[in-house]
Amino acid sequence: MVVLNTNTPEFSNDLCDEIRLFFDVRKIAYEDTILAGGYTIWHRQDAENPFFHTCRVYRDGSPAGEAAYEAEAAEPSSVLQYKKMRKRAAKICIYRALVKAAGEEKPWGSLTGIRPTKLMRETWEKEGQAEAERLFREEFDVSQPKIRLLESICGVQRPVIDSVTPTELDIYIGIPFCTSRCAYCSFSSALTSKKGDREREYVDALLREIGLLREIIGGYHVRSVYIGGGTPTALVPEQLERVVRAGAEFAAPEFTVEAGRPDTITAQKLDILKSMGVNRISINPQTTCDATLERIGRSHSAREFFAAAELARRYDFQAVNMDLILGLPGETPEMFLSSVKDVMTQNPENITVHTLAIKRASAFGMANAHRFASGAQAEQMLSESMARLAEGGYAPYYMYRQKYMTGNLENIGYARPGTECIYNIDIMEETCSILAFGAGAISKRVFPSAQTRIERAPCVKDIPGYIARVEEMAERKKKLFCEPV
Ligand code: SF4
Repeated sequence: MVVLNTNTPEFSNDLCDEIRLFFDVRKIAYEDTILAGGYTIWHRQDAENPFFHTCRVYRDGSPAGEAAYEAEAAEPSSVLQYKKMRKRAAKICIYRALVKAAGEEKPWGSLTGIRPTKLMRETWEKEGQAEAERLFREEFDVSQPKIRLLESICGVQRPVIDSVTPTELDIYIGIPFCTSRCAYCSFSSALTSKKGDREREYVDALLREIGLLREIIGGYHVRSVYIGGGTPTALVPEQLERVVRAGAEFAAPEFTVEAGRPDTITAQKLDILKSMGVNRISINPQTTCDATLERIGRSHSAREFFAAAELARRYDFQAVNMDLILGLPGETPEMFLSSVKDVMTQNPENITVHTLAIKRASAFGMANAHRFASGAQAEQMLSESMARLAEGGYAPYYMYRQKYMTGNLENIGYARPGTECIYNIDIMEETCSILAFGAGAISKRVFPSAQTRIERAPCVKDIPGYIARVEEMAERKKKLFCEPV
């Protein structure tokens, strides 16, 4: 059992994230006493100085590690900065006390956010590279290899980020249907129906929503269109064609369709994509081990992946991406590296390496029936794949982290130089507005100023709710995107 006792309960979610870096626990209780068994994390913000924090970790009632940390002070009148620096002090302090208790450091130190590259870039822009490096190394305790990774990604992303103007946006179109449910999936996608009525109704609503906003989009330059999911190619050709045609009308230079499941890819569907100007697709094997594919509920084999990859090559898309997941149950570092090598034989322009995240809403999160890789094994898979991909000419170009990732690692998108996906950079770095259509899709308007402001307009997640309320969703986005910069 792990309990937290803090006098800053307003930060408790973030503090629990720090604790979960060390303990594989979903539930962290709040208690007023020090437990006789298990761990108690006792954290205090100083009564006089809100930027000075102390933490003591007790194991079975006895002190096992302690730390104190003082963050740079901020004026209470600067509300966001005041809260940010107090929260930073609390997190760093708890992290350092836990390092002492556990006797081990974490590769990302006390950083728990989704977008470390964004934080690195923003610090770099405001305070220079040396200060950014110092902050990550000396305050957040991030390891040197991770700092080097962030710096190299920031370097690759710079021209894409610098090219954004306030009158540009990206378009996202979501298709929340799949042919089967992967055991690690926590996304609210639905299975395709036999007759396809549900999908048809959904596509009707989606196109209605896009139609309602077309006039507004006319005032912007669309730099990228991304049709994602779910699995867009799970739609029957007729519905797929309607959606892709709607995307093509934005005439964006970059046009991506996530084909995803190899078993949904046919020549007829690739003909549709190619004829409508799609220039990037992804075909995701996740692993090339058939036993693992079966274990994780994918409805295709490795052979079907190779066949789909070969078929797609004939269409000469500008870039093909292939996703892999490290840390799938039953897989060793050798097995994962073998999948990396198999994928490289297909010569894709992009390869994305995800680290398995076990979310509560997934089949893996609900059943405790599998043996997963340890954090050390996952780290080995990550570093060996990075080395192998570097030899093959692939460089990391975007990354993000999620909760509950094995070893608290990261997802990394690799690309051959010049083939980076603009949309992936834009969505992770939040430097370009995104107008998103479909159930669960989140639109973001970026208001560039000295202190960049981002406002969001999410769509309802459930498909019937989205279909019923599509006009309301469109109205909300209209308001957001009509607001002057
Ligand atoms: S293909 Fe993606 S969205 Fe569909 S079930 Fe698998 S993980 Fe979930």
